[in-house]
Amino acid sequence: MKPKKNLIAATMLAGAATALSFLSAGQAQAQGALVMYCGVQEEWCRAMTTAFERETGIKVSMTRKSSGEIYAQVKAEAANPRADIWWGGTGDPHMQAAEEGLTVEYKSPKLAELQDWAVRQWEQSKQRTVGIYSGALGFGYNTELIKSKGIPEPKCWADLLNPKLKDEVQMADPNSSGTAYTLLATIVQIMGEDKGFDYLKALHKNVNQYTKSGAAPAKAMALGETTAGIAFMHDIVTMVVDKAPVKVVAPCEGTGYEIGSMSIIKGAKNMDSAKKFYDWALTPEAQKLGAEAKSYQVPSNKNTPVPPQAPKLSEIKLINFDFAKYGSSEERKRLLSKWDNEVKNLPK
Ligand code: PLP
Repeated sequence: MKPKKNLIAATMLAGAATALSFLSAGQAQAQGALVMYCGVQEEWCRAMTTAFERETGIKVSMTRKSSGEIYAQVKAEAANPRADIWWGGTGDPHMQAAEEGLTVEYKSPKLAELQDWAVRQWEQSKQRTVGIYSGALGFGYNTELIKSKGIPEPKCWADLLNPKLKDEVQMADPNSSGTAYTLLATIVQIMGEDKGFDYLKALHKNVNQYTKSGAAPAKAMALGETTAGIAFMHDIVTMVVDKAPVKVVAPCEGTGYEIGSMSIIKGAKNMDSAKKFYDWALTPEAQKLGAEAKSYQVPSNKNTPVPPQAPKLSEIKLINFDFAKYGSSEERKRLLSKWDNEVKNLPK
């Protein structure tokens, strides 16, 4: 009698355990997973990951890279995509990926809440990428270094060619960095292609390093590793907020700007999670995390408060940036290879 009782008890326990394991597998399936390639600063990427996991129970695997690097990875993985969502980074490689069919159309119910420039990005990409933030390009300088070296404070793009700034200017490589590609496209639009490339060749003499990431020159300026640096103005503001001796400049000739973007990867293995993230990332609650992580872009949802530290786009002389042209696959490839051939490899 006793062994039989034990058997019944053991069977009941095993049944309960099976039911429990079914439940957890079922729950895990319902909650799902998400693989995200993240193109903004690490701190903001992590804040988005944690908040989305908390909000939905969906486990996020996040990788942070620069804009051009994410594009290259998405393209390389096209036959067997690893990522589901590409969130952040400048719009140009998102536009290129859209044109090349690496990403898919999606119309979020949140679209109606977005600024015109964010919706235009979505329309121009045939619904394959959407604007999530915007910010103007500029440069900055370390106020202590500029003073100690007796260099006049630069106010215009032209001032960065001052021979006194030889090896004192830092910028990123436009192949990996969306920030630096925005510079390339901005200079060509302001000066015309021939004069623009003359400018970039002259600037090359003053460049001490082409970094991989666009925000790196802002950090190097703050640390006193370079006197001047070209970056998005909001990335330099982050250094000022951290009390670095750095000044932000909106160049006198005018400047370009970015529409940071988000796309869903074609063939995403977690498509439902990708769409959930996409809709959530367009809400004011999610967009507010940027300023909390000290990223001071202008958010794309009209109801997200604009961080008071964000450079005011209405007070900056912005060019009429042609996002469709400079995000097109042909133009982006052509300009990058021209820059590689005519600027990057020039002897100093
Ligand atoms: N970080 C911030 C805060 C940005 O605004 C942007 C532009 O979208 C990037 C990073 C992009 O960086 P990268 O120039 O390295 O592609």
